[in-house]
Amino acid sequence: MSMPCMTLECDKCGATGSTSATWGEYAYIDGGEEYSVNRILGWCPDCANCVPLEEFGDEERLITGLMEAVQDTGGYLRKRIVLFLSKSSVQRRNYTLNKLEEMTWRLSLIRERKGTEKCLRCGSSNAQEFSGGIPVHKSWSHDPDIAATGFKHPGCGGEFIAIPNPVRLSLVITPNYYTVDGDRIITEGRD
Ligand SMILES: [Zn+2]
Ligand SMILES: [Zn+2]
Repeated sequence: MSMPCMTLECDKCGATGSTSATWGEYAYIDGGEEYSVNRILGWCPDCANCVPLEEFGDEERLITGLMEAVQDTGGYLRKRIVLFLSKSSVQRRNYTLNKLEEMTWRLSLIRERKGTEKCLRCGSSNAQEFSGGIPVHKSWSHDPDIAATGFKHPGCGGEFIAIPNPVRLSLVITPNYYTVDGDRIITEGRD
């Protein structure tokens, strides 16, 4: 099975990366719990490659979500006074509590870490968002479109161009684990 993606190549020095860099499973481990890692495509000068870069841009969405969840919980408690404690209401409460826990966890992570986003490959803080426009190709089978992205290779000055390049998917996905500080947890012998 192959998935559409783009090779990104600097038109000056030939450095390359791939939009597939963010694919895979990424999780923070905290207190024995797993939380998913939000990530965007970045360029890391230390890896000299496209990398998955931590992303902490969802603070507003989380606050809105938390307020909604709090209201939801209030409604549940009111209903509980008049209703029997049925199985579905227990499940609903657990679901709401899990959601609340996840959102508050992530919100405190963002407040702690925003501005210290790390390259999820090497841990460097020098990576920056690949802010170029990555074109959506029309057809994979013929006439692949090569397009400028507008993203300049940091420290080089060349511009990345995007070249369609479907990637063959490996069936084995090795999860990547991190501490809350964005440092990789080595899971030796895990496979
Ligand atoms: Zn370059
Ligand atoms: Zn890196």
